[in-house]
Amino acid sequence: MGKIQSIIDHAESQCQLRGTRMTRKRKAVLSGLLSSRQALSAYELIDICRDNLGEKLPPMSMYRILEFLEEEGLVHRLKLANRYVACTHITCDHQHEVSQFLICVECYQVEEVAMSKSMLDSLKGNVKKVGFQLVSPQLEINCLCGSCQTAKGKP
Ligand SMILES: [Zn+2]
Ligand SMILES: [Zn+2]
Ligand SMILES: [Zn+2]
Repeated sequence: MGKIQSIIDHAESQCQLRGTRMTRKRKAVLSGLLSSRQALSAYELIDICRDNLGEKLPPMSMYRILEFLEEEGLVHRLKLANRYVACTHITCDHQHEVSQFLICVECYQVEEVAMSKSMLDSLKGNVKKVGFQLVSPQLEINCLCGSCQTAKGKP
């Protein structure tokens, strides 16, 4: 809990610098994501926040809060899975790189890893070759996490 609280404090001061504000509800949603190893859906977050806030947020409010957190770079939306994860670089000083999200198809555990420059260049090259324009280079990759591999008996 101490670690999560310090990440939230950091996020709060970052928001203050940008002139935005972390409300109690926004903090509760971010805290829910930070305490989870799994990517969560908006509805799962509504359940988690109901316990922490003592009130049930309507889906529209939850989506607005998630949109805010995404704009502030605190949260990533996994479009294919339609789930959310807290950014692993909230307290980092370096610039946020293009991320690949390794998503376990069984349990939705997610690892955020940086895409190498060569990989990004090759991706951009492929897009250009066919005359498309890159909208977002974010990659979401279907995987099996370590514990789900063990559970399936496939080391
Ligand atoms: Zn991130
Ligand atoms: Zn980092
Ligand atoms: Zn898994």
